[in-house]
Amino acid sequence: MYGSLKPILEAELKAAKENGTYKVERVLESPQGREITVGGKKYLNFCANSYLGLSGTELMEKASEEAVKKWGYGLASVRFICGTQTVHKELERAVAELEGTEDAVLYSSCFMANLGLFQTFFGPEDAIISDELNHASIIDAVRLSKAERHVFKHMDMADLEEKLKATKDKRLRVVATDGVFSMDGDIAPLKDICDLAEKYNALVMIDDAHANGVMGKSGGGTPEHCGVVGRVDFITGTFGKALGGAGGAFTATRKEAADYLRNRSRTYLFSNSLDTAVTGASLFLIGYLKSHPEYRKRLWENTKLFRDLMKKNGFTVSDAQHPITPIMLGDEKKAVEMGKALFDEGIYVIGFAYPVVPKGKARVRVQISAAHTKEDIEKAVEKFTSVGKKFGVV
Ligand SMILES: *Cc1c(COP(=O)(O)O)cnc(C)c1O
Repeated sequence: MYGSLKPILEAELKAAKENGTYKVERVLESPQGREITVGGKKYLNFCANSYLGLSGTELMEKASEEAVKKWGYGLASVRFICGTQTVHKELERAVAELEGTEDAVLYSSCFMANLGLFQTFFGPEDAIISDELNHASIIDAVRLSKAERHVFKHMDMADLEEKLKATKDKRLRVVATDGVFSMDGDIAPLKDICDLAEKYNALVMIDDAHANGVMGKSGGGTPEHCGVVGRVDFITGTFGKALGGAGGAFTATRKEAADYLRNRSRTYLFSNSLDTAVTGASLFLIGYLKSHPEYRKRLWENTKLFRDLMKKNGFTVSDAQHPITPIMLGDEKKAVEMGKALFDEGIYVIGFAYPVVPKGKARVRVQISAAHTKEDIEKAVEKFTSVGKKFGVV
């Protein structure tokens, strides 16, 4: 009966191609790194989430090899049957320490950590109050829960307070936000959020995927950056971005909440244990970064250099304090075309336009890494400037 589905898909795909939302995947012929190979040609890479520049490194390769040698290839089980090894418990302890929480629970991905969170704790007598620009995985996770759903305007504390007042009769309220928002690199005002939550007796959940290992003096993420360690009830995070880049994730939380997740969270209970390569390598990395602050130092130096040089050359750069650096262009077509032109010049960046970002906010997004050299940054700025001139942007 595929005949009934096929014409629908063909029409949808054709429409997506016409309105520019069709996604073409470029195929890398090399490991992920500051330089990558596509179509036999080398590019400087400015669009990976590997903020510490670790994903393609020998360091992580060795750490994962050693983990597999010690713990085997995989568990072929969920955690509560026979899938928990010493290394999983050690990683959970290390994550809890990094995040400043009492405990942590591992998940196969942050998407799964989010899906397994709200439906476990919150039902029809509760309310979830979610930032309008939250990640797709939070939006879907909120939908999976039977709790009442409220959305507050992006980082708008007055609107959040309204929603907290409107839900005061619910048994539990939880405020949910990304720690760092991926399109603008803007940071949630966690201090204000925690203060409001305290005032109205609500819980706080953050998804810190773009901040784990990046933000905060010791890489503890946005709670550390905002000075609210110990005040956030649920922190979901990933090993798939700065912390190695392969995958795997966690929910860091209070003692009883972690215990409850291990008993009731469906995406934890009914999905395979996190693989040994990622578990062992992540454990190694969290320890390694404690004595190697130079990765974060280089990341922030590079970020500052790129932002300063771009501004000096006349580009509009957001003021966010994150290696996600959107170069704002406004014009939809210009952003996409400029992304392609930069790619042709050997700089791998992506132009984002509506509906991925709001109308009139089209941009080329740049992601800086600790692996970039000063010369890489200078070269990217030089190419941006020459291409920008062609497009009449600067
Ligand atoms: C990347 C990202 C995720 C997904 O993380 P995975 O571990 O790859 O599933 C979830 N939330 C946010 C905010 C993200 O940026």
